[in-house]
Amino acid sequence: MNPSILVINCGSSSLKFALTDPRDGSTPLSGLAEKLGLADASITFRHDGEKNGHPLQDGTHSGAMKAIIDKLDELGLADAVAAVGHRIVHGGERFKESILIDEDVILGIGECSRLAPLHNPGHLLGIRSAMESFPALPQVAVFDTAFHQTLPERAYRYALPASLYHDHAVRRYGFHGTSYRFVSTAAVDMLGKPLEETAMVCAHLGNGASAAAVLGGRSVDTSMGLTPLEGLVMGSRSGDIDPGLFNYLASALDLDTQGVTDLLNRQSGLLGLSGLSNDCRELEIAAANGHEAARLALDIFCYRLAKYIAALVVPMGRIDALVFTGGIGENSAAIRAQVIGLLGFLGFELDSPANERTIRGKAGRITTQRSVPALVINTNEEDMIARDTARLAGLAA
Ligand code: ADP
Repeated sequence: MNPSILVINCGSSSLKFALTDPRDGSTPLSGLAEKLGLADASITFRHDGEKNGHPLQDGTHSGAMKAIIDKLDELGLADAVAAVGHRIVHGGERFKESILIDEDVILGIGECSRLAPLHNPGHLLGIRSAMESFPALPQVAVFDTAFHQTLPERAYRYALPASLYHDHAVRRYGFHGTSYRFVSTAAVDMLGKPLEETAMVCAHLGNGASAAAVLGGRSVDTSMGLTPLEGLVMGSRSGDIDPGLFNYLASALDLDTQGVTDLLNRQSGLLGLSGLSNDCRELEIAAANGHEAARLALDIFCYRLAKYIAALVVPMGRIDALVFTGGIGENSAAIRAQVIGLLGFLGFELDSPANERTIRGKAGRITTQRSVPALVINTNEEDMIARDTARLAGLAA
C-alpha cells in the first residue's frame, strides 16, 4: 500500500479531512465532521464515489478523529497513513513555510490566534486530537499566509503609525497561499516556461476571493490584508471599503464595531448587493431571468476584479499569464469573459468557445493564440498540503 497523508482542515466546530496519496493526488477517503461540540454532531465519509455518514456519539474533535480511525480500519486503509498534514490559516510573520509540528510550533500557532481568532484555535484542537490519535506519526503545518511572506515591505505595510506594525503586527498578510502555490506551479507546465521567468496574476475566486501577483514563483503582492476582508468583492464580504464607513455605520445604524464587522463579512458582497444570494451560480441564473440587482452584483464583482488584476501588474512590470481558479474561476465562463473583456488593453483576447467549454473540472487556455495567455486551473490545496507533508516527513513523494 502506498504511504498516504491524512490532510486535516479543522475549524472550531468542523473537521474536514482527506486521505491523499502524495504521488498522484488521489483521495481514497475524505469526509467532514460537523457541529462538533453540539448535541447533533455528525460525520460524513466519501469513499469510492459513495457518500455515507452517521451521528457522532462523542461529538468532540477527539471523537471525530476516533470515527475517522475506525473508518480507516474498516476500509483497511489505516496502515497507509504515514503522516498528518494540517491546514493552518494564519502563520503571522513567524511561519514563512510549512513546518514539522512540535510544541514550539504549537505555541507559535497559538500566538497567531490573535490575528485569526476564528480559525487558529480550531486548528489547534485538530492538531491536539491528531497527535493523540496518531502519536507515532509526523505532523506538519501548512499555512495559508506563508506563500505571501515574500511580499516586499512597501506592499505589506499599511500607511498607519509604524508602532501599529511593530507593536501589534498590523500589516497585510494575504491568504489562499497554498492554492496560489499549487496553481502557479501547474501553470508553468501549461505555459512551457520556467517558473523563475514567469510573471503571472492568479485569481482564486471561491466564496472568499483574492488575487496575487506571482513573479518568478514568489508572491510579490496580493489583494487580501490583515484579514481576508480586504480586496475583491466576495460571496458575503464587502472587500475594500472606505474605512470611514465604520464610524458612519456605527452612528447611522447604532452598531458597535463587532456589528459593523459582521455586516461587512456576512451581509455584504454578492449577497448584500443582490439581496438574493452569495452564490455566483444562483446569481447568474437570476440575472439571466432579469433580476437587475443580481446583474449589478456580478458586474461590480467583475469590475473590481479586473481593476485588481491590472493593479497587480504594477509590482511585476509585465504579465505573462492570468490564472483563474476556485469555484467561480473554474466554472463561471461568464465572469471570466467579462473580466478578460475589461483587460483587453493588457493584451488579453478571449477565445469564446474555449472559455465556454473549460468548466466542471476541465483546465486549459481560454484566450486566443495571439493573446497573453489566460488559464483555468483546478486548484487542489489538499494535494499541496499532502506533498509538503510527505517531503517534511521524509517520505518519498
Ligand atoms: P469555497 O471558497 O467555499 O471553497 P468554492 O471554491 O467551492 O468555495 O466556490 C464557490 C463558488 O463557486 C460559489 O459562488 C458558486 O456559485 C461558484 N460556482 C460553482 N460552480 C459554478 C458554476 N457552474 N457557475 C458559476 N459559479 C459557480
